[in-house]
Amino acid sequence: MLIVMRQNAPKEEVDAVVAAVRAQNCEPKPIPGGNRTAICVLGNRGSVDPSLFEFLPGVIRCISVTKPYKLVSREIHPENTVVEVNGVSFGQDNTDIPLIAGPCAVESWQQMKAVGQALKARGIRIMRGGAFKPRTSPYAFQGLGDRGLELLERVRDQFGLAIVTEAIDHVNYDRVEAVADIVQIGARNMQNYSLLRRAGRGGKPVLLKRGMAATVDEWLMAAEYILSEGNPNVILCERGVRTFSDHTRNTLDLSAVAVVKKMSHLPVIVDPSHAAGKWEFVIPLSLAARGVGADGLLVEVHLDPAKALSDGAQSLTLKNFDKLLNLLNI
Ligand code: PEP
Ligand code: MN
Repeated sequence: MLIVMRQNAPKEEVDAVVAAVRAQNCEPKPIPGGNRTAICVLGNRGSVDPSLFEFLPGVIRCISVTKPYKLVSREIHPENTVVEVNGVSFGQDNTDIPLIAGPCAVESWQQMKAVGQALKARGIRIMRGGAFKPRTSPYAFQGLGDRGLELLERVRDQFGLAIVTEAIDHVNYDRVEAVADIVQIGARNMQNYSLLRRAGRGGKPVLLKRGMAATVDEWLMAAEYILSEGNPNVILCERGVRTFSDHTRNTLDLSAVAVVKKMSHLPVIVDPSHAAGKWEFVIPLSLAARGVGADGLLVEVHLDPAKALSDGAQSLTLKNFDKLLNLLNI
């Protein structure tokens, strides 16, 4: 870190900063300039918290050089992490873009069976469906809970599909993990630290969605929680962030995909459904995601979106899903 002092800061102010750096067991190296001094912080083992120095008299800015995450950083781990599930590899270059598809929520066996069959017929190997739904309104459909997990287990066994389903708290994590092949942590829970830690102690890959107002650093720090507990299999998922724009449900931040792939070795997939909020934009956003180098897509598909218990407006019918597969040459 570099601590930049105001112009002509008196020696006492510089000395106080030097002492504060030493107090953190780091080595301060003042670099006097024409009219201001900068103090280089050396010998730190991880990143240094700028708030330790920013309030000191004479300090105008702290510039971090080391990122606060290390396990997820490409600097420490240059090769891509490849997460493999049911013969599908996330994070491997030069392959067809992997697809995860299925309804927002598990609604019934009839629905699960029909979607499972349709996905299998199209060569899709990973199905999504929420049993526990994090809904904005407490009065909205909250998911079938344990019954939903049973249906997911059944569809997995019947069609050989791997399952992505969400854990909304650490209390139900064991039950979700027993059924899921990939456990989803949703946007609303990206900074639920007990959930992240539990996911880190688990044996299943984790699909970590970006929080709806999370910076890239915050998102990567959330992933760091999971890796720091011992689970290296994290798939990051950009699902749109909240901005001033209201023409779509969220603003799909495709630049974050390119940036995160540079900063981290973890695979980054895109969920165009929750970004768009409207099915008709799911196809163009999927193509754009592939264009930017996404390592996969997570797409909501419903046989009869008008009757869906959640997120029908953004769900592709099978006919539209086929259009997407065609455009992706899958
Ligand atoms: C979902 O995948 O159905 C979901 C609730 O997603 P998000 O957490 O991105 O809103
Ligand atoms: Mn949904």
